[in-house]
Amino acid sequence: MPELPEVETVRRGLQPVMEGARFAKVEARRGDLRWPLPKDFAARLENQKVQGLGRRAKYLLADLSSGDVLLMHLGMSGSFRVFQGERKSTPGKFHHDRSEHLAHDHVIFHMGNGATVTFNDPRRFGSMKLVPRSKLDEEPLLRSLGPEPLGNAFDAASLASACQGKKTSLKAALSDQRIVAGLGNIYVCEALHRARLSPKRRAATIADRRGAPNGRAQHLVEAIKTVLNEAIAAGGSSLRDHRQTSGELGMFQHNFRVYERAGKRCTNKGCTGTVKRIVQTGRSTFFCPVCQK
Ligand SMILES: [Zn+2]
Repeated sequence: MPELPEVETVRRGLQPVMEGARFAKVEARRGDLRWPLPKDFAARLENQKVQGLGRRAKYLLADLSSGDVLLMHLGMSGSFRVFQGERKSTPGKFHHDRSEHLAHDHVIFHMGNGATVTFNDPRRFGSMKLVPRSKLDEEPLLRSLGPEPLGNAFDAASLASACQGKKTSLKAALSDQRIVAGLGNIYVCEALHRARLSPKRRAATIADRRGAPNGRAQHLVEAIKTVLNEAIAAGGSSLRDHRQTSGELGMFQHNFRVYERAGKRCTNKGCTGTVKRIVQTGRSTFFCPVCQK
């Protein structure tokens, strides 16, 4: 499942061909993605201009001249391919392979500037939805999302306050999209390792009784922002040369310090521990039991 850095990398890859361009023709080859596309999907897009391509958590939001917003989610296995003249690219470097099988090309955007943007999704957990801009605040997919981790609203005070009194683990709290949006298994593990906090620690222990942040909350927020920014930078660097990227493993995975590194030496300075894998709420957690307290 792509996390925030992958989606942001995809957004940056699509932005140059979609922003300011018009949908000339839209092909919806399969309407049954995670939920059905609206019947008038193509008609509501065609001839509309993309005024901006933004992101909220793991959703891409294309702001259209009609007043609609096109919400796009990659699901488990979705990806976009861009064709522009001779140039072809698959924006986004992913930890898991992307498919390029034509049978899984479900939606094709022919842009007025000559670019073609193809949405491919073998498992069809991805989704697209049209929402009037005026109803965006009430949109159920977005309504309950917590703050953007790279935004100013996400800081030690807001995270501590969200974790106040929480008996669940820090791993579970950070994976909860209502507490902070866009983090998944990989970046939660990586951030906790950098902050030297145990994934098993009770979430409430980053706040005092009144919900004020302590040093742990400060370190954790810094670690989350750093790891996300580094991952986005790694994805971005691979986009610049417009290589065929499908199927290659991502750049940032070479920077994983704990994720899928069970049995390897801890890389935290001064630590001689070994990375361990445990299971929390059905998902693998990787951490160093020596320096993560
Ligand atoms: Zn360690």
